[in-house]
Amino acid sequence: MKWMSKRFTFVVIPDANQTVQRYRISGLTFILIPVIILILVVCSILFTLLFTGKVSHFNKLKTQMETADANYKQQLLQRNEQISMLETNLLVISEQAQQVETKLSNISELELQLKEIAGIEKSSVRISSSIEKAEGGTGGEEIIVPTNRSGSTVELTSQNLSNLSLEMDKMRPSLEATIEAIKNYQHILDITPTIWPADSRKITSTFGIRRDPFSRRSSLHTGLDLGGDRGDPIYATADGVITLSENNYPQGNNIIIDHGRGIETRYLHLNERLVQVGDKVSKGDLIGELGNTGRSTGPHLHYEVIVNGTQVDPRPYIKEDREDNNDVQK
Ligand SMILES: [Zn+2]
Repeated sequence: MKWMSKRFTFVVIPDANQTVQRYRISGLTFILIPVIILILVVCSILFTLLFTGKVSHFNKLKTQMETADANYKQQLLQRNEQISMLETNLLVISEQAQQVETKLSNISELELQLKEIAGIEKSSVRISSSIEKAEGGTGGEEIIVPTNRSGSTVELTSQNLSNLSLEMDKMRPSLEATIEAIKNYQHILDITPTIWPADSRKITSTFGIRRDPFSRRSSLHTGLDLGGDRGDPIYATADGVITLSENNYPQGNNIIIDHGRGIETRYLHLNERLVQVGDKVSKGDLIGELGNTGRSTGPHLHYEVIVNGTQVDPRPYIKEDREDNNDVQK
């Protein structure tokens, strides 16, 4: 280590005609300078290696992030399209729900009208949604909630559908009762004599006290006489069962139909009887021909309506034209 205490002199000759420069350094400095340079070189190499690795890793991560970002954007785009489509579908469903609601209200109104026609009490069940909403409050503002539009629409649609379901549940028994009542009403209409027994509208004698054409004495005329031609068709004025079909004096060829509920109709002085006892007939069925049999002054039909065994005036029962009635009834 003795040489470390020595001093070294470096001679630098810049050019031939310039002065020589001398640099004197200690032995320690002579050793330290290369060592420091070596350490710096090694550090530089290590740093470069490390930095290059990091950069490579960073680039790799960056590429992965860019790919992930592109995928995410693509998925986001698809999701947005799906959400937009769902929103459109939801709006369509919402509109359909409103249409169904309106139709249900209309059906409910029709049911009420049917009940009124059939003489049933008004239903306590009413559609409480669109119509009553329309009548109720209109002061509210339009719902404009763009930020939560679909959520709000879902809620409203869901609520509307739930209400519709409840209303339908309520309507079913009410409608069934109405249908049953209308069937009953129709049946009563079918078995009530309401039509003309012949095509003729020529009333030759009304129900009530009159002078008897044979005896010339006052007597009760128990039916309605309709003039016509021999052979004109005679119709059952309501559904029923034939309980009498015979020829006697003074009624001539005559038929009785039992319509139930204590009501019968009788057809006298017929030219022909076309039904037998036990036959079931419907309103408007052909049962015989107009004639002049029995105690009769000319071709006519003597038509009676009998309620609980007593003849009553048939006129209040004849409310409908036979042809019109056929259109309605049959
Ligand atoms: Zn008569």
